[in-house]
Amino acid sequence: MKVGVYTSGGDAPGMNACIRAVVRTALHAGKSVVGIYQGYQGMIDANFEEMTSRSVSNIIQLGGTILKTARCAAFRTAEGRQQAYEHIKAAGIDALIGIGGDGTFSGAEVFSREFDIPVICIPGTIDNDLYGSDFTLGYDTATNTVIEAIDKIRDTAASHDRLFFVEVMGRDSGCIALNAGIAGGAEAILLPEKSMGIDTLCSQLETAANSKKASTIVIVAEGEENGGAYKVAKEVKERFDFYDTKVTILGHLQRGGSPSSFDRVLASRLGYAAVKRLLAGESRVMVGLWGNEIKATPLEEVLNRKVFKLSEDMLEMMEVLSI
Ligand code: ATP
Repeated sequence: MKVGVYTSGGDAPGMNACIRAVVRTALHAGKSVVGIYQGYQGMIDANFEEMTSRSVSNIIQLGGTILKTARCAAFRTAEGRQQAYEHIKAAGIDALIGIGGDGTFSGAEVFSREFDIPVICIPGTIDNDLYGSDFTLGYDTATNTVIEAIDKIRDTAASHDRLFFVEVMGRDSGCIALNAGIAGGAEAILLPEKSMGIDTLCSQLETAANSKKASTIVIVAEGEENGGAYKVAKEVKERFDFYDTKVTILGHLQRGGSPSSFDRVLASRLGYAAVKRLLAGESRVMVGLWGNEIKATPLEEVLNRKVFKLSEDMLEMMEVLSI
């Protein structure tokens, strides 16, 4: 068996640690491994490299992905996938391990069915928005990056009695916003999954102002319904002229950085498990963390099940602890 490994979609800290685990587990089992550069684009362009144990030396601590990643429109077409298949076949690759988000899994699922190639997927995205794994690779690191930023913003906010709106990543998922908001002591959090209109936010801010808080930080997930941090800040300013409001968009810095110990261990476990499952004859599944166990879930189920990873308890607790 020759295993092809690739990263696809948005990069996430921990992808390198995962590539390392895949390569070394496969080599340990006597299989050869090919690194596919730039995800599906690399299959179409035949951008491959034979991997050795040394190809993945010194990468466990690096953010990003040494195999690069890409969004590839051509792979969504039958012609593009046909070309990818021909290149894979010519390179002798007969099984795939893909690390990415739900788009990556959709591509893997259709490709595996069309050409009867075994494929195992690994959840790698900072959003933590996938069914079948309590945590996705990169989420823990990204949340820690946000907390570090909130702590720094808090210093300046407290010195000037300011109201800060901090926008964090999460188009459909409020996991980073909720967890970083709780860990950073935010006064309010706006989430995509649970609407909070400007009226409710303003009444919370009024309470904060009346209790003479030295600083106020509102976390805004990018996908929440009011239109993002700038818009929310403008509306709040119109109602509370006395507030000195500032906006910080954390943006892509949330994607980078050295993976946390949690992400490195999770990446190692998932990469190891993916190869083991492949060797045991499994296909079209995603390996993920359930409690402290690694389990596999059919890709079809991962793609079709809606996830709600925010705990109601935590949402309630957030309001209590922010008074
Ligand atoms: P993230 O969650 O970080 O955005 P992702 O894996 O969801 O990661 P996408 O850009 O949605 O990122 O998907 C990655 C790639 O997977 C796409 O650029 C495309 O090449 C391929 N892909 C996505 N959906 C399909 C599909 N339905 N059929 C074939 N290929 C697909």
